[in-house]
Amino acid sequence: MTGWECAIVGCGSTFERVEALLAHQVADHDPHECEVCGESVPEGYFAIEHGLDEHTRAEYVRFYDGDAAAIRERERVLEEVGDALDPDVLADLLGEDTPDAVDASDVAPATTS
Ligand SMILES: [Zn+2]
Ligand SMILES: [Zn+2]
Repeated sequence: MTGWECAIVGCGSTFERVEALLAHQVADHDPHECEVCGESVPEGYFAIEHGLDEHTRAEYVRFYDGDAAAIRERERVLEEVGDALDPDVLADLLGEDTPDAVDASDVAPATTS
C-alpha cells in the first residue's frame, strides 16, 4: 500500500489515509460545479460520487463527454474509496460534529469537584 494519490489534474499529492485525501480535496481544491445540474460540490471523489449518485449514467456521459470506460473507471474509484473510508474519521477531519460527541455530553455531564 503506497497511499492515496490525489487524482485531480496538476496535484498528485499523496496521503496515507483516504480520509486525509478527501479532506484535502475539500479544503485545498476549488469546488467543482456539476455540469449536469450546476450544484457546487467538492472536487475529486465527492464530485464523482455526486455525478454518479445524483444523475443517470446517460446524463453523466452526455454532459461530461465521457464513455462507458470512463464511467467504469469512476465506479472503481468510488468502490475503492468507499471500502477504505471510515466515515467517522472523515467527519472528524472535515470538522463536523459527530453524533457520538453529542451523545457523550448528554449522558456524562461534566461534574464539578
Ligand atoms: Zn489535490
Ligand atoms: Zn449534479
